[in-house]
Parts: sequence; structure tokens; C-alpha cells
Amino acid sequence: MNFDNLFSAQLDALKSEGNYRYFAELERKCGKFPRAANHHAGEKRDVTVWCSNDYLGMGQHPKVIDAMCEAVKRTGTGAGGTRNISGTNHDHLLLEAELADLHGKDAALLFTSGYVSNWAALSTLGSRLKDCIILSDAGNHASMIEGIRHSRAQKVIWRHNDVKDLEAKLAALPANAPKIVAFESVYSMDGDIAPIRQIVEVAEKYGAMTYLDEVHAVGLYGPRGGGVSEREGLAHRITLIEGTLGKAFGVVGGYITGSAPLCDFIRSFASGFIFTTALPPAVAAAARASIRHLKESSTEREQQQAQVARLRAALDREGIPHMANDSHIVPVMIKDPVKTRMLADYLMDEWGIYVQPINYPTVPKGTERLRFTPSPLHSDADIDHLVTALKTLWRQCAIAHMTA
Ligand code: PLP
Repeated sequence: MNFDNLFSAQLDALKSEGNYRYFAELERKCGKFPRAANHHAGEKRDVTVWCSNDYLGMGQHPKVIDAMCEAVKRTGTGAGGTRNISGTNHDHLLLEAELADLHGKDAALLFTSGYVSNWAALSTLGSRLKDCIILSDAGNHASMIEGIRHSRAQKVIWRHNDVKDLEAKLAALPANAPKIVAFESVYSMDGDIAPIRQIVEVAEKYGAMTYLDEVHAVGLYGPRGGGVSEREGLAHRITLIEGTLGKAFGVVGGYITGSAPLCDFIRSFASGFIFTTALPPAVAAAARASIRHLKESSTEREQQQAQVARLRAALDREGIPHMANDSHIVPVMIKDPVKTRMLADYLMDEWGIYVQPINYPTVPKGTERLRFTPSPLHSDADIDHLVTALKTLWRQCAIAHMTA
């Protein structure tokens, strides 16, 4: 059997739909964020990155870099094992304590990524709690969906951010079954924010535990960067808060926080925690430095919000439609995969602007978009340059000025 032919047939189908993914080959430049070099067709060119999830530029912050370098020199490169067999380092425990404190919880548990933390935690909870039912927001991230699927627990999907639908679904379930309401705070593609208070109230009414993914909010919201649940004074009412170290904290890794028995339960039963090499201690040290800095400093958050507002206002002035939301994510809807790719290519080639086209399956077909994430390090001139480029392209491509 010619397997390559089988692979190629599916890849060709993706290409013909316009959904094939081309990755930009970037070379980040320390201290220059959001500038990076783009390697393409044997050439290397400076571009401004407009779609990074290093939302605050902390991946290049001097304190974070120093912490990582110091820890590499102190501990070496790798962890030396799984957490169970020789891989648990002092830096991991310091970071777990820092994370527990960030969310006002008793305990925290580190994973190799946010994806793995969702996958491992939800699959363990759903499979180990007898007769467990997981109520999942329809907009939840792939990592939560996969974790729930892997658990083989009963899954009930409620309409995105629709508390009435959640309540109707909870009310129809057996009163005695353990229930988990799983949702996100900031949804990364539309940038909308969940009505956390109402969701918590309904979950409490029906005795369900709450599982909140704050991946796109930690570091960015709340007086100490504890996420939207901190900003709204609700963290103590959420059973489990999950987050990443790879976005606003600028490093890599994922975590959960919650009660001591909950974290011990996941630590003891989650294969995605036990059977994999622990994060390098230097990664833990860098993440801790980043979290500590953002607990103290709101400057980055404030400056980011100022630049988000500035970009939105400039887009409005030029009549370029973008999706309204209360977060830092600015989606410009194109609604066609081929046009989205074409616009992204023009922006890169003609204007030195890098924004990745977002297509299916990251977003539903017909909602393809350019997703901009202004950071505190994007200057006013960067914003003017982007908006001039978009304005010019809008005219050239005669894209209908549709409202999102
Ligand atoms: N949860 C959400 C909502 C995400 O958008 C992502 C990644 O983009 C993850 C979890 C996974 O986090 P990580 O990138 O750390 O694996």
C-alpha cells in the first residue's frame, strides 16, 4: 500500500479548501519584540509580529531571561526525569506555590503545556469520578474537548456563554451524579468573556464543580494577573482554575490550581502528569519570575489595554470591521479562507506585517479571520502602519465592509 498517496490525498483536499496551514518561519530577536526576522524562500526579512500570544512581551523581559539563565547555570538544561522518578526539582515546587498563591488556592500542579493540563485533568476527573457528567461550553478549546472525550464520561454541551441553557441542562440531570461545568474565561478566537459569576451561581445551585480555563487571561486581567476570576473576585468560588505559562507569562508549560486533595488526586492518577519528563527547572524559574513581576506590576497590562483601545479606534475611523469584545483580542473578520490567506500574504510581503490567517478547524468554516493581538510593546507608529496597510488592502481587494 502506498501510504504517501493516502496522506497526499487528504492534504490535497485541505489545500483545495484553502485550509492548508503554512507556518511562518520566524526568528525572534531578544529585546526587539514585536520585531522578528522572517525566513522565506532563502531570504531573511524583518517583520512586525501582530498575532503573538506572548501577549505582554514577557518572553523577552530581562527579569525572566535572567531567571532562566541563572537556573540553567545552576541546574543544567533538563529536569532529569518524570516528576515521579527523579524529575521533581525545587524550582517546580516554588513555581507551584507561586501559582497557588496567584489564584488564592491551596495547591497547584504543573504540566508540560496548557493543552496537557486540560487533557490530563479533565480525562482524569471524568474517568475516575463514578457516573460523572461533564457540562462543556460549546466554544471550549480542543484540549478540553479531547480530555472530556478521553474520559468517556457523559458529556453535555451547553450553548456558548448561555447560562439559561446551562441551567436547563443541569436541572435535567440526576441530582446525585457528580457534575463538572467546564468553560473558559476569555475565548481566544472571538475574544468574548464568559459570564463567570452567573455560571458559578448556577453550578453552585446544582452542586456542580467548576472548571475554568484562564489560559488567555492569566497575567492579563486582575490586579495581580490572576485572570478574570481574580478581577471579578470569584477565584475562591471556582473549584479548579487552569492556565498556561506559555502566553502572557512568556515561557511554556501549563497548570491547574485548586484544593490540596484535588491537586493530589490529579497528581496521583493523571497519566499525562506522571508518564512524561518534567519541565526543565530553568523554565519553572523563568515562569516564576514572570508571574512574580506581573503580580507586582500593572504597567504592562495597562499599556496593553491602551494599545488595544488605540487599534480599535483607528480601525473604526477607517471603517474596517472588527469583532466587538471586552478583551485584548481584535478579530478582523474576512469569512473566507482563500481571501484571509491572500490578505495575510500581502501584509507580510508588501508591508512587513505578520498576522497568521485563522481558518478551520480553529474557527468554524465561513468565520475565517485575521486575529490581531496588540501588546504593550507595539508602538503608536506600529498601529498606524498596520491600519494604513489594512485600509489600502481593503480598497485594493474590494472586500465588502461587513459587520462582524
Ligand atoms: N486552553 C485554551 C483556551 C487555549 O487557547 C490553549 C492554546 O492555545 C490551550 C488551552 C493550550 O495551552 P498551551 O498553549 O499552553 O498548550
